[in-house]
Amino acid sequence: MTKPMVIAVANQKGGVGKTTTAVNLGAELAARGSSTLIIDLDPQGNASTGVGCSIKGREATSYDVLAGSQSLQRVRIDTSVKNLRLVPSTPDLSSGDIDFSDRPKRIELLKAAINEVDDEQFILIDCPPALGLLTVNALVAADSVLVPLQAEFYALEGLSQLLMTVREVRQGANPALRLDGVVMTMYDGRNNLSQQVEADARATLGELVYKTIIPRNVRISEAPSHGLPVTMYDPGSTGSRAYRAFATEFLNRQKEMRQ
Ligand code: ADP
Ligand code: MG
Repeated sequence: MTKPMVIAVANQKGGVGKTTTAVNLGAELAARGSSTLIIDLDPQGNASTGVGCSIKGREATSYDVLAGSQSLQRVRIDTSVKNLRLVPSTPDLSSGDIDFSDRPKRIELLKAAINEVDDEQFILIDCPPALGLLTVNALVAADSVLVPLQAEFYALEGLSQLLMTVREVRQGANPALRLDGVVMTMYDGRNNLSQQVEADARATLGELVYKTIIPRNVRISEAPSHGLPVTMYDPGSTGSRAYRAFATEFLNRQKEMRQ
């Protein structure tokens, strides 16, 4: 068994498509035969709900993993998707920033837990909407960062703050951390602003921006209430097609980076 590829899905802005991207990319990687684990690192637990894990099903959580009281292998559970497993979260995690702040290795808690895992091919970490201790734990544990960028006006301004945090982590605890890329989400082709933000992003970030764009699609937003990724909820929808195309481009990028 090889070391898993660990990807942090991060952006300190809320509602930009982190969870949606983690769930749907994870489901698509799993559907293509890769054993995949989603770690829900957001106290809101949206990724947990999104793959069909009810609140009652969250006995052991990512909080226990960070606290070191449970191994990641014991906490992870199966989901509604074959090959896709989940480390769920609950609102308890919202005190994590404070609870773990006096630990000597407080930014390496998740990394230590992930190091014990050798039977997953991909681990996607769904980060909370902040650049606090939880997101830093994800960046320290990750091989690369995937950044969903909502096609709206202030999107690029928030990005520079995130990139600064990535740089700091690289200069310290995780020099090997790579920026996988930026994926435009909730894109509305009829909206001039969406087009403008996309043009700006491509001009500023170049090849880092994925060619595939995730459009705004109502099926994507309906799927979580059924506990399913959109690719299972409505495989023929434009949202499903976009996330499948995105998964293909993501895998090609992974292949290129390994070479
Ligand atoms: P984040 O995890 O960054 O806070 P989410 O993935 O939860 O963002 O997305 C925020 C909201 O937007 C959710 O209700 C989600 O269902 C919806 N959403 C995300 N992506 C799309 C999309 N492409 N089209 C329509 N709705 C979307
Ligand atoms: Mg989220």
